[in-house]
Amino acid sequence: MSATVESVIVAIDGPAGTGKSSTSRAVAAQLGLSYLDTGAQYRAITWWMISNGVDTDDPEAVAGAAEKPAIVSGTDPAAPTITVDGADAAGPIRTQEVSSRVSAVSAVPAVRTRITELQRVIAASAPGGIVVEGRDIGTTVLPDADLKIFLTASPEARAARRSGEIQGADVAATREALLKRDAADSGRKTSPLAKADDAVEVDTTELTLQQVIECVVTLVEERRAAGAGERTAR
Ligand code: C5P
Repeated sequence: MSATVESVIVAIDGPAGTGKSSTSRAVAAQLGLSYLDTGAQYRAITWWMISNGVDTDDPEAVAGAAEKPAIVSGTDPAAPTITVDGADAAGPIRTQEVSSRVSAVSAVPAVRTRITELQRVIAASAPGGIVVEGRDIGTTVLPDADLKIFLTASPEARAARRSGEIQGADVAATREALLKRDAADSGRKTSPLAKADDAVEVDTTELTLQQVIECVVTLVEERRAAGAGERTAR
């Protein structure tokens, strides 16, 4: 039997504030995998639309510009990067303005087709495997992922975590903004936020980040062991 560890693709989906990014990065780092934040890609294209005067409430205008920006993601979990037309976009994509417009932009089918293609190319070329986090990874982008996780948490826990990340944020206002974004992301026609039938659901409300990370690492290791077992039995 070969001692080589097989490449593994892990999809982690769920709404905002469930700990997806922190968990995904830590799991990727711990297991030596690449890491892709797909929300950052949708934020990047939204930032480009705003910066270039495209009306983000006009789906036709957004669709017409969807192919224009060059979006490049760096997938090292220790230092993930995102550039738009060669410029570092890591700071600008986290503004309130981008957060409030990203759901409208990401609901446009031409945007999803474009970004999904980028995601599949990155996942297919990641040496050793990758952890990809988002909203539709297990259902649409990588339906054949080796392991699918769907993270949830109560709206209160999610709002408290998110406001802890933003200085001076008001928890009630953060909660409203999160719920509005979830409703838009879950209600859109093209690849909405959804749990895949074969995803493992993990409710993180009562768990620490460390506990969530350990839980996911264990699930990946179990899946790898089961895969190795299947290969040996052939
Ligand atoms: O993960 P994050 O909160 O940064 O995602 C920002 C937005 O990007 C989401 O609210 C959603 O509109 C969009 N998104 C998406 N599909 C993904 C990841 C993010 O539509 N796979």
